[in-house]
Amino acid sequence: MKTSVATKGQFTSKSETRPAEINSGNEVEEEPPGKSAIYSDPEEEPPSNRASNRYRFFGHISDSTWNDWRWHFRDRITSVEQLAQFIPILIEEQAQLRLVTMRYPLSVTPYYLSLINPDDLDDPIRKQAIPSILEMTMGSMGVEDPLDEKRDSVVPGLVHRYPDRVLMVLTNICPMLCRHCTRKREWRNSGWVRTSGEIEAMLDYVRQHKVIRDVIISGGDPLTLSTSHLESIISRVRRIRHIEIIRIGTRFPVVLPQRIDNELCTMLSKYNPIWLNTHFNHPHEITPEAEEACDRLLRSGVPVNNQSVLMRGVNDTVETMLRLCQGLLRIKVRPYYLFQCDEVQGTEHLRTPVEVGIKIIEGMRGYTSGLAVPTFVVDLSQGGGKIPLQPDYVLARTKEELLLKNYEGHVFRYRNPREQTHSKLTAVASLLNEPELHFESEGAKDADRVIVRS
Ligand code: SF4
Repeated sequence: MKTSVATKGQFTSKSETRPAEINSGNEVEEEPPGKSAIYSDPEEEPPSNRASNRYRFFGHISDSTWNDWRWHFRDRITSVEQLAQFIPILIEEQAQLRLVTMRYPLSVTPYYLSLINPDDLDDPIRKQAIPSILEMTMGSMGVEDPLDEKRDSVVPGLVHRYPDRVLMVLTNICPMLCRHCTRKREWRNSGWVRTSGEIEAMLDYVRQHKVIRDVIISGGDPLTLSTSHLESIISRVRRIRHIEIIRIGTRFPVVLPQRIDNELCTMLSKYNPIWLNTHFNHPHEITPEAEEACDRLLRSGVPVNNQSVLMRGVNDTVETMLRLCQGLLRIKVRPYYLFQCDEVQGTEHLRTPVEVGIKIIEGMRGYTSGLAVPTFVVDLSQGGGKIPLQPDYVLARTKEELLLKNYEGHVFRYRNPREQTHSKLTAVASLLNEPELHFESEGAKDADRVIVRS
């Protein structure tokens, strides 16, 4: 739904236009997850050429200020009043949003705000950044901590769920509060950063558990820490001999790419191998600034992977996901995961049926490079872990053959090679009358793996 063009300071009076998501009874208008929800008309603009609203919103800001990530961080939009200076919000909706922000605060960087089309209530960037009354009206659905991270915390801030890796949560501060965040429960607490004593306790645990080879540094967003503070932690992790890789989870390349500066990249390059996982959800987020940030990381030897979250009205069509993932490959970022939106309280309005994700993968596989197709996963509640889901390409299976469906829906038979056992190979040898050939099975007599010696 469209509204009239906004100018700064407008939109304090009642308008006839109402948000599409809300009906008069404050009930949600449910849309069935039919094909129409999954296939949409492709949008015409290439994402990286899309002009932002920087000059419309922040024309008075100099280039040097705009390129200073600290300015963006300091000048985040955190109140409905500030927001209404840029984005059209009806008076009654402002009151609703104030109510929402008392439970789920608001924080948007000027950079990310500039990506929003203020004239479009259905703008996919807006849906990720601006609160919705549905966070409250549907707030009884879902749970606060669906992944049960508290249960797997071995020391404060350190989650050890899988055998060989741990998650270090360094802070609850983020440059932007994404409306679909899994850790929305943390927003109630004012901003905290782990103390040096807490960091030392985490490192001690990692030092004592030699099975850990992978440390994931996350938050909140760990890049909210100063580069020198981050280095003091990363350098100590790197000194632990059994740690092979360090991963950083951050949304800065998307919501405040100016943070990925030379100082940060030079620091990271000293502690390789470091991998960085980021979080693009829509092709409009692939801007020249974001591309530059990812390029700087890659040139510093830090591979960048992307973890998207599937959201209603944001990226729940094949076309949008194709444009996103192809755009990511163009900027050399690998589409890694597409997450089903977790069942977190305050996010239900953004969640889609699982079938939508499977249909999207089905619509991508075969129609574009395999490299562009992420793995669709559901992160199980109660800490059950990630489950990959994909379209069913196996229609039937016997010991002899499989009936397989290809990406175009054509069905093929595929001969299933039989297991080669020791006794069968010996029989073949005697048929060949090659007495000098000896077959030795590895382990048990009928083991699958057979060594041939002459
Ligand atoms: S950056 Fe990540 S942790 Fe922070 S609010 Fe967004 S989704 Fe949540």
